[in-house]
Amino acid sequence: MGITELNLVETKKLFEEKKVSPQEVVEAYLSRIKKIDPKIESYLFVNEGATADVQHPTSNIQSPLFGIPIAHKDVFCTAGMPTTAASKILADYHPPFDATSVAKLKAVGAVNLGKLNTDEFTMGASTETSAFQKTRNPWDLERVPGGSSGGSAAAVAADLCVFATATDTGGSIRQPASFCGVTGLKPTYGRISRYGVISMASSLDTIGVITKTVADAAIALEILAGQDSRDATTGDALVEKYSENLRTELKGLKIGIPKEYFVEGLDSKVEKVIREGIAQLKKLGAEISEISLPHTEFAVPTYYVIASSEISTNMARFDGVRYGPTVANEEVENLIEMYFENRTRGFGDEVKRRIMLGTFALSAGYADKFYKKALQVRTFIKRDFDETFKKVDFIATPTAPTTAFKIGEKIDDPIQMYLADIFTAPASLAGVPGISIPAGFAEGLPVGLQLLAPQFAESKLLAVAHAFQISTGHHLKKPTFNL
Ligand code: GLN
Repeated sequence: MGITELNLVETKKLFEEKKVSPQEVVEAYLSRIKKIDPKIESYLFVNEGATADVQHPTSNIQSPLFGIPIAHKDVFCTAGMPTTAASKILADYHPPFDATSVAKLKAVGAVNLGKLNTDEFTMGASTETSAFQKTRNPWDLERVPGGSSGGSAAAVAADLCVFATATDTGGSIRQPASFCGVTGLKPTYGRISRYGVISMASSLDTIGVITKTVADAAIALEILAGQDSRDATTGDALVEKYSENLRTELKGLKIGIPKEYFVEGLDSKVEKVIREGIAQLKKLGAEISEISLPHTEFAVPTYYVIASSEISTNMARFDGVRYGPTVANEEVENLIEMYFENRTRGFGDEVKRRIMLGTFALSAGYADKFYKKALQVRTFIKRDFDETFKKVDFIATPTAPTTAFKIGEKIDDPIQMYLADIFTAPASLAGVPGISIPAGFAEGLPVGLQLLAPQFAESKLLAVAHAFQISTGHHLKKPTFNL
């Protein structure tokens, strides 16, 4: 087995046994990226000098991620490297600072291989709204990797980094993880600092990771979680020893299956894989029962009103003056016209669509009808989860209604694209943690099982997901694409 096929735990072990040096591993990844990534197009920027970065001043062989090659979704600010949010309006942005997550990973020795593609400003479910390139699904190069963290999911699936950072606002970690057959952890809202991560919708944006295994996600979360004085929404909840609490059986745990998630629109082949997954959870000792989350059907419209409203305000700061292809002074009459032109040229269609939707939903006379109403429905959705978690410990669902769709299939039909979030948006609105883990295959394409838990119950969530993962081994299967 090649070095790049190893997960985090295995790579660390090789270092400890001195079987390989971090420099060799970083070199192996860089040369694989050179060879394979032209087919996948997951990287927007490759840190060619990564080998020289192995020795960070604060890290040593004892550091938890010493010499581990990782990569960041291109919305994480990285000092000395471009950070574009896959948008033309930030094409020339080189932040002078690191996001908290980037700094934390660096401090424990991780080596940054570069920046990964995403939908523009993370708006999308296929990574096709990126202004720069279309990332391909390693399981089928004609298909999307999901989104918005499609670059992160594809890079992990194709062994182009050990793990990747990612963000999830309505499903952007879990859905691409499902499409690419990897593990995607979206922690509780506020569990990991958002400082230095370019915002999409601030009341929903959640930082997490895409990894090869649940055990790897547990290690990453231990490093990333915690309070940050630069992000007031991070809490002081205890950061547990997630990697030490993993389990192998599920005796005594109650798992609820929401009936609203097994409805029309769920692909029957996906349903079959998920039902088998649920049977596996039962075999491991969990008590399975049907539950109801009655407001599920309102989640997608509620999410799109709230997200677009927050997007319209967050996008207001981009004027295209310093970091994008700004218009020349002679081309415009005045300052307002310059902003107008810069934003017209700098933003893609999906971003513009949401700015318009959000501006409308927040405008005088409509705010009560749309934005306020959506906030009220959000409370109902949150209550569905609160009530359910009084009865069960976890909820299990499909992560997405389908497997990876074809490139181009949905990009001109926003409603179809938005429906890709149907099973992920509810947990985002409720702010509860979720994980997508490989559950099997439908016609050769990966299917993800989503597990959801109460707020800040990541430790138990990872424990259950781990038990499922090691008992099935679906995560061990690798895509075989033509080199
Ligand atoms: N697909 C969803 C959207 O387009 C989710 C995006 C995300 O989580 N960043 O809004």
